[in-house]
Formats: sequence, structure tokens, C-alpha cells
Amino acid sequence: MDLVSVRTTRVPRSRAELTFSAGDLPLGGGTWLFSEPQPGVTGLVDLTGLGWPAITATPDALVVAATCTLEDLARVPAAQCGAARELIWRCCTALLGSYKIWHTATVGGNICLALPAGPMTSLAVALDAQAVTWPAGGGERRLPVADLVVDVRACDLAPGEVLRAIEIPAASLAARTGFRRLALSPLGRSGTLVIARADAAGEFVVTVTAGTRRPHQLRFDEVPPARALESAVLRLDDWYDDAHGAPDWRRAMTALLAEELRVELGGAA
Ligand SMILES: Cc1cc2nc3c(=O)[nH]c(=O)nc-3n(C[C@H](O)[C@H](O)[C@H](O)COP(=O)(O)OP(=O)(O)OC[C@H]3O[C@@H](n4cnc5c(N)ncnc54)[C@H](O)[C@@H]3O)c2cc1C
Repeated sequence: MDLVSVRTTRVPRSRAELTFSAGDLPLGGGTWLFSEPQPGVTGLVDLTGLGWPAITATPDALVVAATCTLEDLARVPAAQCGAARELIWRCCTALLGSYKIWHTATVGGNICLALPAGPMTSLAVALDAQAVTWPAGGGERRLPVADLVVDVRACDLAPGEVLRAIEIPAASLAARTGFRRLALSPLGRSGTLVIARADAAGEFVVTVTAGTRRPHQLRFDEVPPARALESAVLRLDDWYDDAHGAPDWRRAMTALLAEELRVELGGAA
């Protein structure tokens, strides 16, 4: 779609050139930005010219640049992402766009768009990823991705602040995980997406996305009894309501899927 109000598109090549004026928005892959009218947007600042390496593996973490495409992330070798390989693949393929979308959409664009059904948010939160941001005034800010996405289409980012990368800790990459996703139709957007993670240290974390307005983590010291997990899910109070699912359906299905994952990861049936 032509964005008729946009007058300038800049492609910064360095942090010094990464500046924003009133009416400017960061541009990732543009798969959402160019999919609907953007009233009031007068400039785009294309982050893809900054040349951030898509994926860097360090001994402590997998660092995924905000500009990494879903396609590149989906192809990360197991040598770099350990046991999380299958989960990464399933989250990337949870966005049911065409090959063209997959090839272009970025991890940062998906998280910063902050749709409940943003599968990169699901993945990052499920693996306790940290967001690394570049505030407008310089320096870096770090916060859990779980705290970055605060509501539907709302992130904890100040004007001119961009997401630079997410860092997925090595311990999370090594954990056992389980994935469940439900949609109202075979190619529909996620109505609820639940991921469970059992760490080597014993902690059990259930991440609920798509069914709720923002991501939630339910943390337990060990795999909990069924009743405790169900109560934690049913205490969530921001079930999302849109064409992809009614709140009561999302709540009931999330409780069901969380229980399936609890048993899959070793809880007593
Ligand atoms: C057929 C189809 C299916 C889709 N299905 C889904 C789906 O299931 N779930 C879903 O979540 N989305 C879906 N989308 C929407 C969209 O394509 C994805 O969310 C995609 O991942 C957005 O990434 P992008 O890089 O293209 O973002 P862009 O369109 O470039 O940007 C999206 C928003 O994020 C901001 N932004 C981008 N990068 C950064 C950054 N690094 N720092 C700060 N702000 C930034 C932009 O300013 C903009 O507001 C779908 C789209 C299509 C066309």
C-alpha cells in the first residue's frame, strides 16, 4: 500500500545517523507498516541499513538482532540454539503469512507491533529473553521482553527508542519446552498460544500469549499440581476479545493446553 502521508524515507548506516523527527517511525520489514493506512506518519527510518548481524551465538546467550527476519531465525542451526530449535521453528511458523512475509518480517517488528498473536513475543517471553533497546539519547536499556510488551499495540518504548536485539539466555535454550497453539480456523491467527519450559534447575514456566492482551509468565519452583496451574491460568484477567476468539473460549482453551503441557513435561496425569 502507498503511504501517501510519508514524505521522507531515510536509511541510517550508523547509530549517529539513527535519529527521529516528529512523525517518523522505525521501519523493520514493513509487512505491517505497508499493509494499512498510517495516518500522521510522515517519515520512515529504515533500520535494515544498520547492518546488524542477524544472529550471534555467545557462550551465555543467543543474540537475535531486531532486524533478523523470521526466515533467518527459523533456520538457526541446532548448534547455536540447542534444544530450543523445535520451539523456534514452531514460533516462526505460527505467523501464517506467505513466504514473502516470512522472508521480510523482522523479529523486532513483530515484537514492537505488539499484537497479542505476535509469535516472536511468545518465543522471547517463553525463553526469558532480555530486550536490548537503543534510547534516543544514546546508551542501552535492558528489560525482559515480558515487560516490554505492555498491551495490545503498546510497548514500553519512548519516542525515538528502538529495539536493537533480544538476548536469549543459554540456560533457556537448553531447557525442555512444549508448545500448543489454537486458532478458530486452520489458517487463522492464533487464538491462544501456550509454551511451557522446564529448566534443568527444576523451574517450570508457562507463558500465555495470543489469548491475553499482553504476555504472561506463570512461574513455579517445580512442575506444579494440576489444580495449582489451572488456578494460575484462571486468575489471568485480560483475556483478549477479537475476531480470532472470544475471551471465555480463550480462557478455557488456555487452561486445557497448559494442563496438556504440564503432563507432557513430567507432571502427574
Ligand atoms: C498475511 C499476514 C499475516 C500476519 N500474521 C500475523 C500474526 O499471526 N501475528 C502477528 O503478530 N502479526 C502478523 N502479521 C503482521 C506483521 O506482518 C508481523 O507482525 C510482522 O512480524 C511485523 O514485522 P515487520 O518487520 O514487517 O514490522 P514493520 O511493519 O516494519 O513494523 C511494525 C511496527 O513495529 C515498529 N518497529 C519495527 N521495528 C522496530 C524496532 N526495531 N524498534 C522499534 N519499533 C520497531 C514499526 O515502527 C511499526 O510500528 C501478519 C501480516 C500479514 C500480511
